Amino acid sequence: MGPARARALAEAGYHTALDLLFHLPSRYEDRRTVASVASVAAGGSYTLLGKLRNLRRLRTRRRGFSLVRGLLDDGTGTLPVVWFNRPYLANQELEGEEHILHGAVREAASGLELVNPSCERPERALHGARVTPVYPAAGGLSAPVLRRVLAGVLGGLDLRQIPEPLPADILDRHGLPPLGEALEALHHPAPDADVEALNRRRSPAHLRLIYGDLLALQLALALLRAEGRGEPRTLRYRVDAAVRQAAREVLPFRLTAAQKRVLKEIVDDLEGPHPMLRLLQGDVGSGKTIVAALALVVALENGFQGAFMAPTELLAEQHFASLDRLLGGRYRLGLFTASAAEPGRLRERLAAGDVQLAVGTHALIREKVLFRRLGLAVVDEQHRFGVDQRGLLRQKGDRPDMLVMTATPIPRSLALVAYGDLPVSTLDELPPGRSAVATEVMPARKRSEVYGRLREELAGGGRAYVVVPLIDGSGEGSAASPASTASIAAVEEGLRELLAGFPLAVVHGRMPSAERDRAMRAFAAGEVRVLLATTVIEVGVDVPEATWMVIESAERFGLAQLHQLRGRVGRGAAASVCVALHGRLTEAGRERLQVFASTGDGFLIAEEDLRMRGPGDLLGTRQAGLPPLRIARLPEDFEWLVRARDDARELVERLGASELEALRGGVFASGGAGLGA
Ligand code: ADP
Ligand code: MG
Repeated sequence: MGPARARALAEAGYHTALDLLFHLPSRYEDRRTVASVASVAAGGSYTLLGKLRNLRRLRTRRRGFSLVRGLLDDGTGTLPVVWFNRPYLANQELEGEEHILHGAVREAASGLELVNPSCERPERALHGARVTPVYPAAGGLSAPVLRRVLAGVLGGLDLRQIPEPLPADILDRHGLPPLGEALEALHHPAPDADVEALNRRRSPAHLRLIYGDLLALQLALALLRAEGRGEPRTLRYRVDAAVRQAAREVLPFRLTAAQKRVLKEIVDDLEGPHPMLRLLQGDVGSGKTIVAALALVVALENGFQGAFMAPTELLAEQHFASLDRLLGGRYRLGLFTASAAEPGRLRERLAAGDVQLAVGTHALIREKVLFRRLGLAVVDEQHRFGVDQRGLLRQKGDRPDMLVMTATPIPRSLALVAYGDLPVSTLDELPPGRSAVATEVMPARKRSEVYGRLREELAGGGRAYVVVPLIDGSGEGSAASPASTASIAAVEEGLRELLAGFPLAVVHGRMPSAERDRAMRAFAAGEVRVLLATTVIEVGVDVPEATWMVIESAERFGLAQLHQLRGRVGRGAAASVCVALHGRLTEAGRERLQVFASTGDGFLIAEEDLRMRGPGDLLGTRQAGLPPLRIARLPEDFEWLVRARDDARELVERLGASELEALRGGVFASGGAGLGA
């Protein structure tokens, strides 16, 4: 292909023939039987072979929209044909020539017509009169162009020669074809292919790739865990009456039933034979911190040190403040961040064991930071950290116990993908006395009304977040007539006018973190009353006095993200409001916002999010250094996920280190898509 197309594809993430190999058809058209014009009926899809006549381009009023009409004549009759946006078809050279057309027939006002069919000369039709793969557009290349590009790329390869990285017995177990055969069947379906199975992604070839995708991920996870698994613990905890008493004295309120259950799961791990690695998931505000604090009490009472790592300085400071409030009376705490005072002195005290609990950011995992006897390490908002950062924290001790926490609720099917068989504890109950955040979804034209209400709230002493998806937009728009997608640049000035008299600060991801933290601190202190922000505020910020949130261009956010954002309000006793302002909505966007407004249950939202858009980045696998899912879809392919998990476990047990290393190389080389292609 030419350099322009190559560049376009590279920009879309397709750099190699291998990448293209895993760009699979989104559907298949059955063109095996050529129908006659006389036999077509409205509602059907047909492959027709005949001569094109009367090709002409029609004028339309809509800019950027073109219409070409013509007639197809195959000797049995003539059928009107209409094409949208393919002006090059109004070409006299095509007139009277034989073509293969494939498309749907509909009943128009003037009778039957063939709508927007594919159109190829018989000699150029790569897949004429066959089962034809239709590729999803990529890199700005349309489906027909891509088909030709792929035919060129794949034509030079014998796909069947692609080596199979998986042991044969594993494939046999599930009745799956080898990788090469599967790819061949998907790109060049056999004449007798089951088109219906292909279109349901349930052909054996599809299942092989889906399975490979999921196995690659599960294998990566199993390998990551194999390192720590099975080794006996070195740290012994005593959980006796004295420890329980210490925990009771620390506790400022009664635990919810969910908190009690989860704490017991953690303590059981600490008393178990192996080092703990447990995920604690709980919706925003479900009270994870106190559970972690109590687990830390167990460690500290046993003479070990604790670590508590958070993804941002602000969050680390907030945790330090609340942990100090809870535990400061009994234990010595230290704050480890890039900007903390006297870092040298603090490190000495930590190394000497004088500091018992180190709270901080990834400053904690720097080389110079040494613990005397690290017992329990807690990682908050763990999806913000990579697997390697978690590993570095673990190396600060001798097989310490780890508790990783996340506020992104993960549906069961996803938890299995993201964490394999990592034990998961779930806080599925909110502490008493919370009022649900009243959520309203409104079109952008209600904007001034909404900000009018916000002014009243501010006048009554409230604090508010205004969230926008972008830092700077295209420059269009103002407070009075909002841009199609709101940005800080586009709304700041207008907002300062609308909310004049109330101090406003801006935070986003491109400003220096010190400046950002200063703004957030001022908001937490009440000096700033309105925080105009991008999604940087989605994690952890805890300002119970904030009772209002306006989300601009809400249709631009994913459902899980909207829910995370909303979690910033409703953290105090006062009733809170979240208004989602939206521009023009797609069908999917409307559905998202409806679900968002209808429930505050993070797990329900996570399930819906998964159903609507697939796992995607919800998993954060890429960030965690794990292969992304390219072909498998969840929850659709859940059954195969379970198989892959079980097989990954078995493979890790049975293969030697070098074989596993080879498989692993294959896993990551293929981006997870096909396992070692
Ligand atoms: P998250 O799970 O989002 O990290 P936090 O641990 O920050 O939630 O808890 C949110 C708020 O709820 C905190 O102010 C905390 O003190 C309070 N809280 C937690 N558990 C309880 C409880 N059992 N009863 C009353 N308040 C609680
Ligand atoms: Mg938290």
